[in-house]
Amino acid sequence: MTEHAPTGDAPIGRGLRGRCPRCGEGRLFQGFLTLRPRCEHCGLDYGFADAGDGPAVFVILIGGFIVVFAALIVEFVYQPPYWVHVALWLPLILILTLGPLRPMKGLLISLQYHHKAQEGRLERRSDS
Ligand SMILES: [Zn+2]
Repeated sequence: MTEHAPTGDAPIGRGLRGRCPRCGEGRLFQGFLTLRPRCEHCGLDYGFADAGDGPAVFVILIGGFIVVFAALIVEFVYQPPYWVHVALWLPLILILTLGPLRPMKGLLISLQYHHKAQEGRLERRSDS
């Protein structure tokens, strides 16, 4: 099995589509957000993958900004009754949070693999 790093914008596309960061063929997820143990196509061990709270943070910040901004505009321009706000923003919140969560997680894992990002480790210098 030859090890070759993806080039160009491949990691972004593979991540957003939820595909293996190395081969781009195998699937990354087995549940909604649960990772497979390894790539079914090239055998890459997904043990390295740890997106942590990253996907949720991006989704909260971006989705929160969109919903709050839109709610403020609607309130100032139309001053609708409160049930209109509930009817508008509750579905939008669900769409904006649940929709991008999986692509965002795939993207962060793919970029983590591409840039070889991992926790800091102490390494001994041989000349000391
Ligand atoms: Zn693979």
